[in-house]
Amino acid sequence: MDHFDYKNGVYHAEDVALDTLAAEVGTPFYCYSSATLTRHFNVFREHFAAENPKICYAVKANGNLAVLRTLAKLGAGADVVSEGEIRLAMAAGIKPSDIVFSGIGKSAQEMKFALGHDIFQFNVESEPELELLNFIAVKMGKKARIAIRVNPDVDPETHAKISTGQKESKFGIAMSLALPVYDRAAKMAGIDVQSVSVHIGSQLTKLAPFAEAFARVRGFVETLRAAGIPISTLDLGGGLGIPYGKEQPPLPEAYSDIVRREVGALGCKLVFEPGRVLVGNAGILVTRVLYVKRSENRIFVIVDAAMNDLIRPTLYSAHHEIVSVVPPAGDAPTELVEVVGPVCETGDVFAEQRLMKVPNAGDLLVLRSAGAYGAVMSGTYNARLLIPEVMVSGEKHALVRPRQTYEELLGRDKIPSWI
Ligand SMILES: *Cc1c(COP(=O)(O)O)cnc(C)c1O
Repeated sequence: MDHFDYKNGVYHAEDVALDTLAAEVGTPFYCYSSATLTRHFNVFREHFAAENPKICYAVKANGNLAVLRTLAKLGAGADVVSEGEIRLAMAAGIKPSDIVFSGIGKSAQEMKFALGHDIFQFNVESEPELELLNFIAVKMGKKARIAIRVNPDVDPETHAKISTGQKESKFGIAMSLALPVYDRAAKMAGIDVQSVSVHIGSQLTKLAPFAEAFARVRGFVETLRAAGIPISTLDLGGGLGIPYGKEQPPLPEAYSDIVRREVGALGCKLVFEPGRVLVGNAGILVTRVLYVKRSENRIFVIVDAAMNDLIRPTLYSAHHEIVSVVPPAGDAPTELVEVVGPVCETGDVFAEQRLMKVPNAGDLLVLRSAGAYGAVMSGTYNARLLIPEVMVSGEKHALVRPRQTYEELLGRDKIPSWI
C-alpha cells in the first residue's frame, strides 16, 4: 500500500497535489512519500517482532539523506557497498554498530575506513578479500566481525541482471567450497567469525527460492557448528519483490513464516538487508509530456524524463505503471502508445505498446514505483542535469536534493593548459 492517489481528480503524494508541486520545482522530479516509507518499514519490522532482528536497509536502493534519516529514526541500520555509503549512513544518523558492509570489491582504503568506525559486520565475498581484511585488521589492532556470503546455487526466478545466487554469479563463495574458508577465517587473528550471509537476488516474487536458499543455509550452519565454528548471527539479505504491475510478491507474513520455519531453530540473531521492498513504492517520477508524435504505426509520447533519470526500463525491461496527474478528458482516445524520453538512444523507452488515454503536450505523467534504483542510478548522459528529489509528509514537502545546475555540470571538467 502506498500514499500516492487521486484526490478531486488530481494525483497526490499524500496531501500534496502534484500539479502544484510540479509548477514549483519544475519537471522532471522524483517524489518520495514519508508515510509510505514509514509504513513499509514498520510492516516489515512487525512481522519479525518476536525475533527483533537488525533491519539493515540496503542504501544502494535509494541513498538520499532524507530517506536514510527517515529510516534511521525508525530504527533501521544500513547495508552498504562502499565507503561513500558508509558515510551517507553515518551522516543520516545510523550507528556504525548497525552497519553491514557487502560487496565483492572492497578496497583496502574502504576496509580501513570501516574498521576505523567499528562497523557491525563485513560480508566477505572471496578468500583474497578475507586475507586482506585480516591483514589490515591485524595492522590496526582490530578484529573484523565477519560473515562469509555463501552462494547457495538457487535460481531466484527473477531478471538475469539482478540474480546473484547461482553458481555462475560473481557474488559470494559457493556453499560447497565455503567450509575450508570458514576454517581459515576462524584461525585468523584479525577476524571474528560471527555469521553466514546470503542474498540470492532482487525483485523476487516467489517464496520458494527464499525457502530453498534458507534451508541450505540452515544445513550449512549445522555443518559449521559441527566443525566447531560457532555461528551466532544470520544475515538473510534482501530481495523481496514489490508489485510494479500485475506481479504478486510474497506478503511479509508469508516471508517471515518461511524465515521462521527454515532457520528459526538455529537460535541466531537475524539480520535483514531489505532495499526495494522499503523504498520502491515510496517514490514516483513526475514528468511532463513535451510532444505527442504520430508516425505511420506508432504514437510516441515524448516526455522530459529519460533513461538517464530512470534506467530500469532500459536496463531490465522493467515495467512502471504510468498515470496522468490530471487524466485527459473523458473523450480522449485510448490507444497503444510508446512513452519515450529525449535521449539519443533507441533504448530510451519507458513503456512500449502501453494502452492509455493519449495525453496532450504539457500534461504531467507519473511513473509509479520509482523509489528504488531510480535516482541512485541516474546520470548526466546527453549533458542532462540530475533531477531534483522532493519528500512529502502530509501537507508538507521539501526539496531533499535540488536540481543540479549547469555551473556544477560544466565545472566537473578541466581543460589542460596544453590544449
Ligand atoms: C542489493 C542488495 C540488497 C537489497 O536488495 P533488494 O532487492 O533491494 O532488497 C541486499 N543485500 C545485498 C548484498 C545487495 O547487494
